[in-house]
Amino acid sequence: MAFEGLTERLQNAMKKIRGKGKVTDADLRETMREIRLALLEADVNFDVVKNFVKTVRDRASGTKVLEGLNPAQQIVKIVDEELTKTMGEEAVPLNKSDKIPTIIMMSGLQGAGKTTTVGKLANKLKTDEKARPLMIAADIYRPAAIDQLVQVGEQIDVPVFEMGTDVNPVEIVRKGLEKAAEDHNDYVFIDTAGRLQIDEQLMQELSDIKELAHPDEILLVIDAMTGQNAVATAEGFDKKLDITGVVLTKLDGDTRGGAALSIRAATGKPIKFVGQGEKMADLDVFHPDRMASRILGMGDMLSLIEKTQKKFDDKQAQELTEKMRENTFDFNDFLDQMTQIQSMGPMEDLIKMIPGMANNPALKNVQMDPKDIEHTKAVVYSMTTAERERPEILNPSRRRRIAAGSGRPIHEVNRMIKQFGEMKKMMQQASNGNMSGMEGLMGG
Ligand code: GDP
Repeated sequence: MAFEGLTERLQNAMKKIRGKGKVTDADLRETMREIRLALLEADVNFDVVKNFVKTVRDRASGTKVLEGLNPAQQIVKIVDEELTKTMGEEAVPLNKSDKIPTIIMMSGLQGAGKTTTVGKLANKLKTDEKARPLMIAADIYRPAAIDQLVQVGEQIDVPVFEMGTDVNPVEIVRKGLEKAAEDHNDYVFIDTAGRLQIDEQLMQELSDIKELAHPDEILLVIDAMTGQNAVATAEGFDKKLDITGVVLTKLDGDTRGGAALSIRAATGKPIKFVGQGEKMADLDVFHPDRMASRILGMGDMLSLIEKTQKKFDDKQAQELTEKMRENTFDFNDFLDQMTQIQSMGPMEDLIKMIPGMANNPALKNVQMDPKDIEHTKAVVYSMTTAERERPEILNPSRRRRIAAGSGRPIHEVNRMIKQFGEMKKMMQQASNGNMSGMEGLMGG
């Protein structure tokens, strides 16, 4: 089964911290070491592994313990999210032309599954969209290739354009496109020749076909069993053809995972479909998140984590709203929010997620420098607990002490405290449905 070894090793890596109430730095190091080995053994590209491990480690050590999740669950969550990201986050649809036909050129090494995939895709479009595709047989070097495509065409009832093996492939494509125009086909698939390895002559031929046909989509078909060699293949084809997407075949086999996890990260090109069997129906849209869960093999745990997280988020949002309404939002809450926000992405986007802030026109041009957030946090860190809870006690001498402690100038401390007070007022108004500006709060 695909990913079996990887799944098992990732689960083992996690087992050691499962059930632990607290994960120490040493535990985390050990877990990350295991994850790293698991990925390398699954033949994931070295650079991809390095980046992956670093990101997971940084996130895991910087994450605040979420209520309801034990440390192992949190790490599973992070690993799952990062696996998803490594494979591209979202499913990427087929490129389509706004005039007919949409031209899809298939490329790949011999035996990768090009001809089969052409049939599968044509079949899918025919079924899903009632499309009327034409398939062009442009692999003249392997006589059986033309027969194979013709057979596939008969099987799925899609016409095949072929001119035998004695005509130049570029000429075949030209004639094939003319035929498609005559017949008003809405999709044209070009099945090109493959080789056992990338060679200059093949690449030149593919470039010539590309130049003639101006394809909307150039899909590279890659055998998932080739592990991280897939990266070199993809880079080779991409350099010459500027491919638009990848189809990963043979995921029904016992592939280790290297290709699936390396391609997107290494080439930046999306995996659009996966082949999971020899039959025409065995083609699926590639969903990075589903693939990540499959690789981790922790479906149940992941949905539990998701549920807990949602409950936690809801509860937190509710608490925050209450504090805003009751005007008890203090510097501790402020710090919490900033730390959370920082781990989530660009500040400008996130402020708008605070209840009531989304459509506030004053926020339209807000820009925030991450450095300013750090400065603001330093100021809060220099306050005592009492000061954080009751900002009104911050008299001039306390402010001077805070300025010295945080290494920020006194005017900045003063301004920050003033802005905090204004923000509190605004929050209270916002929670009562009345909004005004909030810009400049974290400005330095
Ligand atoms: P081409 O040389 O790239 O055109 O490759 P073919 O389409 O002829 O495929 C080579 C072999 O791989 C054939 O035996 C196919 O049936 C098989 N194949 C293609 N895709 C898949 C897949 O997703 N799963 C499995 N198990 N076999 C596949």
